[in-house]
Amino acid sequence: MPKKALIFGVTGQDGALLARLLLNKGYVVAGTSRDAQLSGFHNLRVLGIFDAVRVFSANPTDFRSALDVISRTRPQEVYNLAGQSSVGLSFEQPVETFNSIGIANLTLLEAIRFLGDKSVRYYNAGSGECFGNTPIPVTEEAPFHPRSPYAVAKAAAFWQVANYREAYGLYACSGILFNHESPLRPERFVTQKIVRAACRIASGSREKLVLGNMEIERDWGWAEEYVDAMWRILQQEHPEDLIIATGTFRKLKEFVAEVFKAFGLNWEEHVTQSESLLRPSDITQSRAQPAKAQKSLNWTAKSTYRDVARMLVAAELERLRQ
Ligand code: NDP
Repeated sequence: MPKKALIFGVTGQDGALLARLLLNKGYVVAGTSRDAQLSGFHNLRVLGIFDAVRVFSANPTDFRSALDVISRTRPQEVYNLAGQSSVGLSFEQPVETFNSIGIANLTLLEAIRFLGDKSVRYYNAGSGECFGNTPIPVTEEAPFHPRSPYAVAKAAAFWQVANYREAYGLYACSGILFNHESPLRPERFVTQKIVRAACRIASGSREKLVLGNMEIERDWGWAEEYVDAMWRILQQEHPEDLIIATGTFRKLKEFVAEVFKAFGLNWEEHVTQSESLLRPSDITQSRAQPAKAQKSLNWTAKSTYRDVARMLVAAELERLRQ
């Protein structure tokens, strides 16, 4: 019998990439959107897998809806990749952010507990944002110091998972993922904003790309590799929370320079900084030590920030060509 997986948030970047990975592994894949009637399932269509995924309307903050979709699909693996995923937007919508991450995660844990099948394995999309500023690369043992409503919600969800594992013996894990990108990211995210602007400028646009703090450091990886890590996390004999990152870090301006270089442009002539884009509190350094994942999962990130920049540029050029 093929394994069955249910992905909450299958319409998103990671949801769609994970669905493709699981289908390739022979899984039967079901996925949710808050409104499957209205959702265009753009990412599933771009990947050419829309017809292979059984889609449902389900809101993970709604207990009945969560219970219903889990009961109907009877998955062995549940991946919770749904929720408001923008750190910037979380300052504008803190309550919605907390609900869609903290309350949703708790609701899904409760639904799985209620159904009483301890063989179900649950993955929670944790975030490296929980650690806050990390001048020294963090391991899984480092304390959290969230610096945004998004990170606060992710920290709550992380502890809910740990608590349900300890209190009720659920097989539940958080992957603590650092930034990972793909062409499926919308332009709201800075990497895609940079790539699209650079592409327009290279084609003759005289606009300036306006960014916030370009001194911030991030650890950028390639999303396709990260969804593989998610799957590996749920294949372990014992549930474990793991950091997934490349282990290298770069300033935003280095990422910008790499993208503009791919078009033969000097970024400093085309980019300006605006105070209006600074966040009320931000992470200046985001450094991770993914050694445990390497050991437990036999997983290492292959793509560097430079590869990520080049692959995003190539994908954008291909998109425009089509
Ligand atoms: P996306 O934003 O691409 O997808 C998230 C999905 O969640 C959307 O497709 C949407 O589905 C649903 N969603 C969006 N807003 C809400 C909301 N307010 N309430 C409920 N559901 C909502 O995220 P990613 O695929 O990039 O990320 C997946 C998960 O991993 C997220 O939880 C994210 O926070 C986390 N993460 C991502 C990182 C990254 O670098 N990409 C890093 C670390 C963690 P629909 O509208 O169809 O309901």
